[in-house]
Amino acid sequence: MAVPDSAGGDEVKQAKEMEDAEKFSFMATVTKAPKKQIQFADDMQEFTKFPTKTGRRSLSRSISQSSTDSYSSAASYTDSSDDEVSPREKQQTNSKGSSNFCVKNIKQAEFGRREIEIAEQDMSALISLRKRAQGEKPLAGAKIVGCTHITAQTAVLIETLCALGAQCRWSACNIYSTQNEVAAALAEAGVAVFAWKGESEDDFWWCIDRCVNVDGWQANMILDDGGDLTHWVYKKYPNVFKKIRGIVEESVTGVHRLYQLSKAGKLCVPAMNVNDSVTKQKFDNLYCCRESILDGLKRTTDVMFGGKQVVVCGYGEVGKGCCAALKALGAIVYVTEIDPICALQACMDGFRVVKLSEVIRQVDVVITCTGNKNVVTREHLDRMKNSCIVCNMGHSNTEIDVTSLRTPELTWERVRSQVDHVIWPDGKRVVLLAEGRLLNLSCSTVPTFVLSITATTQALALIELYNAPEGRYKQDVYLLPKKMGPPFSCHGASAMQQLPKRQGGTCSPPSPALLSSLQTSTWPVCTCLPSMPTSRS
Ligand code: NAD
Repeated sequence: MAVPDSAGGDEVKQAKEMEDAEKFSFMATVTKAPKKQIQFADDMQEFTKFPTKTGRRSLSRSISQSSTDSYSSAASYTDSSDDEVSPREKQQTNSKGSSNFCVKNIKQAEFGRREIEIAEQDMSALISLRKRAQGEKPLAGAKIVGCTHITAQTAVLIETLCALGAQCRWSACNIYSTQNEVAAALAEAGVAVFAWKGESEDDFWWCIDRCVNVDGWQANMILDDGGDLTHWVYKKYPNVFKKIRGIVEESVTGVHRLYQLSKAGKLCVPAMNVNDSVTKQKFDNLYCCRESILDGLKRTTDVMFGGKQVVVCGYGEVGKGCCAALKALGAIVYVTEIDPICALQACMDGFRVVKLSEVIRQVDVVITCTGNKNVVTREHLDRMKNSCIVCNMGHSNTEIDVTSLRTPELTWERVRSQVDHVIWPDGKRVVLLAEGRLLNLSCSTVPTFVLSITATTQALALIELYNAPEGRYKQDVYLLPKKMGPPFSCHGASAMQQLPKRQGGTCSPPSPALLSSLQTSTWPVCTCLPSMPTSRS
């Protein structure tokens, strides 16, 4: 086995950690029982450090990377050629006369409703949770402020939370991924939704603000994807945390931020790490990518993969999914890895583990799946052969050093939506997809069934945090359980008493019981175990 490629290894991870730690250095004093003093310096400096790109009044901080690069939801089919008037300038009401929302066009509600109904067909876990629990209303009294992708699949989640008794106010965690028609359908159904596709940075923060800052309504739960909502509440409305019972966070970035806060003793409410739960990682990262990598590649390039040489950087869950899909199509797949266990797994699965520099001249496709930075450098790009396709499936758009391609000697040609040819002086072309952003988010849809599993996990985490008796959770970050408790009534002390006590140890694969619970809506609750992310292998 060749020595794994270590481009952009630990140093980069440390740099990212520092960068993320910095991002939370804005917070003000928060009081919540039991009281913890939270003091952050450089409040406004941090927020104004990044200049905004848009013209309208600024809500002081540039949009975070997670709001432009996220992976957990489908690309939108919304027609972006809708009229040019900003939804913020429009007066719209739904059929019941309510204008407690801001969407692109409320008239698209019927179309959006059909999209939601289609999604419901393949979201069995969530639908059965809804059916099973709507009598008990485990979220009665919950006031959830949410910031996620707004797609047909998340609409099913939001409507499930409402069916379980919650009131919801929702904004988008990504400025591009909102399906306008779905947002309209939610608004028509009475959800206070503030989101549209193609928001500016100002719009992004304005929408979040409209969800949090409401006369006569105060959130008591947060559901976040990326940490921007949590960030905003800490920054602007720290007193809201007096009422918040918990935060449920889905993304790598958001969870990382929460751990930074926890480590610094500055997290003031319990938080649930959905990202590292087995029911997300082992499904969303693996199967979602296994299904959507080919969709993204095919839609953008029409290339035949049988016989093509492909190198996949990173053999974690995402890399495993990509490799499996490409292998099934008859591609010759190489893997680069810096973790010896994952490298060995790649070998055992029949892939050749190589250094990127060894194969870069010969491969037809390069795919990054590491979550690391500068895995594909300008030097690699210079050495690629003509027509090599380069794309990213990892979290951020920094895995491929796209910035290094913006130099005068290289010509960029936009040949299709999300497809650029970068042309070298000798005529060599590299085919760059989605400008190095997540391929599947940008260029394909992701499977509804997998999103249903993640969404059910989020709903269960909300139910648990909302109903947990005082003292069960401290101001820390918790993982969902690795094993199922017995079936139980959904809230109240009697249900909790049936639960297994604290469970330690490492992450085991999802048990058949857990899988069955996700499909039959017997929900687990969390063990009282604060935990760092699980092993990736
Ligand atoms: P993981 O930690 O399981 O796997 C990442 C692998 O990359 C690890 O094995 C690591 O050793 C390896 N790696 C790190 N730096 C490397 C380098 N320089 N060269 C080669 N290998 C390197 O993570 P994962 O669950 O596979 O997720 C990977 C990324 O994809 C994350 O950023 C995650 O947020 C993102 N993600 C994307 C999607 C999607 O739909 N596109 C879904 C889930 C997660």
